[in-house]
Amino acid sequence: MNLHEYQGKDILSSFGVRIQRGIVAKNANEAVAAAKQLTAETGTSWYVIKAQVHAGGRGKGGGVKLAKSLKEVEEISGKIIGMQLITPQTSAEGKKVHQVLIAEDVYYPGASETKEFYVSVLLNRGTGRNMIMYSTEGGMDIETVAEETPHLIFTEEIDPAVGILPFQARRVAFNLGLEGNAFKEMTKFITNLYTAYDKSDASLFEINPVLKTSDDKIIAVDAKVTIDDNALYRHKDYLDLRDLREENAIEVEAGALGLNYVDLDGNVGCMVNGAGLAMATMDLIKQAGGEPANFLDVGGTADAARVEAAFRIILKDPGVKAILINIFGGIVRCDRVAQGVIDAYRNMGNITVPIIVRLQGTNADIAKKLLDDSGLDVLSATEFQEAADKVQAVLAN
Ligand code: GDP
Ligand code: MN
Repeated sequence: MNLHEYQGKDILSSFGVRIQRGIVAKNANEAVAAAKQLTAETGTSWYVIKAQVHAGGRGKGGGVKLAKSLKEVEEISGKIIGMQLITPQTSAEGKKVHQVLIAEDVYYPGASETKEFYVSVLLNRGTGRNMIMYSTEGGMDIETVAEETPHLIFTEEIDPAVGILPFQARRVAFNLGLEGNAFKEMTKFITNLYTAYDKSDASLFEINPVLKTSDDKIIAVDAKVTIDDNALYRHKDYLDLRDLREENAIEVEAGALGLNYVDLDGNVGCMVNGAGLAMATMDLIKQAGGEPANFLDVGGTADAARVEAAFRIILKDPGVKAILINIFGGIVRCDRVAQGVIDAYRNMGNITVPIIVRLQGTNADIAKKLLDDSGLDVLSATEFQEAADKVQAVLAN
């Protein structure tokens, strides 16, 4: 589950990480009220207006703007709220902005210079450890830094059973070239950031930039946070943080129906039972010259109701030009699945794309006969390759 910047910052703050303070607003009036409140609390007179969408690179797309007066807060918020924000990380249509974060300006002038760093905490699956990844090159794409100046990216591996040790936090601060109070602030920042990541069961906390202010405070200016879905049962209070408007609408609907569905860009819809078979089916579609339009695991009970639900979900994707049903009848009998496909097909009445069905396992022969005798525009197949060839043939037409 991905979080908005302001939600991620709330979690950070609750673990003692210093953040750029802000208040979320849904319209220009709320934005002005938020700015006034921020001034009362922090003394700031400049504000940053930040679009809250689940995508990075907002600054580049015009979704992060500095306002130097309440009038500018009103104008800029009015423009950003409701806009389709296009960033290097969104699709070409962009994402609709429903709310903005009104944040205090933390790039104020002072005795020494401000400096931007990059810090993230994530899981290193290779070593089975958590990893702090950090760089002196903050504020820009970490992918670009990795490509052009990889020697400026450091990592610190943390044993999850032991947690972060003081010397590790000090090593981070040292490698970032900090001294004095900024050094001390950074060790505290890193330690608390790691604790926040650990205790919230996150799989990612990416803070870019981490800012050293001109008065040597270390502040999280941005926060990209992903919470591990499998741990959400331990964090009932986080369930409210989910913003379904930010997620793929078809995936949300499939999830509500208990279908394991991932939307993809291709033209062949897949309906498969079992994640492994689903992956193999996608491979075969590719080998046959097609592109899978989705991953869909209907699970063990492929009855008529589930098959119909899966059809409806797959057909919501306008890119689907054919559907391949590939089901192994182990626990579920093939003839029951075939009857489910036929019933769903008739019930829906509006299926216009060709359907290729490959059923293998218990009663596969009866299933094939049912499909062949149904009079519907359904091509049956027994072998995996045969099914893929039929998909290719219908795509070629
Ligand atoms: P992103 O573009 O989606 O990663 O959004 P960020 O939250 O990282 O903001 C983008 C950029 O806005 C940052 O890299 C900063 O350079 C700038 N920015 C953020 N907060 C402030 C601020 O308080 N004052 C000023 N002047 N610039 C800021
Ligand atoms: Mn950022």
